Amino acid sequence: MKTFNYHSAKDSKEATKLSSSNSVFLAGGMTTIPSMKLGLATYKDVIDIKKIKKLSGIKVSNKSVIIGATTTHVEVANSKDVKKTIPSLTVLAEGIGDPQVRNRGTIGGSIANNDPSADYPAACIALNATIHTNERKIEASKFFKGMFETALKKNELIEAVEFKIPEKSSYQKYPNPASRYAIVGTYVAKHKDGVRVAVTGAKSCVYNDKDLCKVLDTNFSANSMETVELDSSDMNGDIHASAEYRANLVVIQTKKAVEAC
Ligand SMILES: Cc1cc2nc3c(=O)[nH]c(=O)nc-3n(C[C@H](O)[C@H](O)[C@H](O)COP(=O)(O)OP(=O)(O)OC[C@H]3O[C@@H](n4cnc5c(N)ncnc54)[C@H](O)[C@@H]3O)c2cc1C
Repeated sequence: MKTFNYHSAKDSKEATKLSSSNSVFLAGGMTTIPSMKLGLATYKDVIDIKKIKKLSGIKVSNKSVIIGATTTHVEVANSKDVKKTIPSLTVLAEGIGDPQVRNRGTIGGSIANNDPSADYPAACIALNATIHTNERKIEASKFFKGMFETALKKNELIEAVEFKIPEKSSYQKYPNPASRYAIVGTYVAKHKDGVRVAVTGAKSCVYNDKDLCKVLDTNFSANSMETVELDSSDMNGDIHASAEYRANLVVIQTKKAVEAC
């Protein structure tokens, strides 16, 4: 590991002031530390944001659940408020990685990283989330731009993620047995104004499957998907699952999610 300057910021203003063209925010460190140890990434300044009180915690209102950026996966999984309002979100958090990862990893780090197989980006898309940063509010549909790419500007800090409370929802993940990342995960949410089916793991970036939304908007039942076949031409294929296998899994996991709703 190369040498670097470690800073612990007391608030968002200080964190962004300390950041530069060669700095990184340290939240759970679950991606950043291994990347640095393996020499895949080097930074001059590492800015720890875990001590910024404002960035952690969960607030629930009639319409939404707001989760602070440095809230850990285990805190979301154990939250009675989240379980009462959006139970599928606690299921998602419980299924991330292993106990060590869930105790350190954060929601802000997960969505800033935007791994194509990560779980939280699917929740953001399905639950019409708004990403609150130190500068602005960004709709989830405009936030996830591509593989490991988001709408965040260099040194822009996520402060919280606001999820709309749906009528019904379910997240169904077919996990990689080693890492627990999604080979395919589908998050189905039925809102007053329509259904959303967010898919992670299948393509280079999380997406809302408009074809499946259309089918479920007409008839919200697992049976309605009996004849659905998805185009696999732009899906991921690797040693774990071919593109065709993933296309089939998207339909299967969506059916399961609708049944669980
Ligand atoms: C073994 C293992 C298994 C895993 N399994 C899963 C899984 O099953 N599902 C899943 O979804 N994920 C999984 N993960 C990812 C993990 O859950 C973390 O969410 C992820 O590694 C990043 O979160 P972090 O808080 O550790 O971020 P860090 O590593 O601290 O930061 C990652 C990146 O995000 C940026 N960042 C962090 N916080 C903010 C912020 N508030 N604003 C702006 N930028 C920010 C940093 O600058 C950095 O570039 C796994 C990780 C490991 C190591």
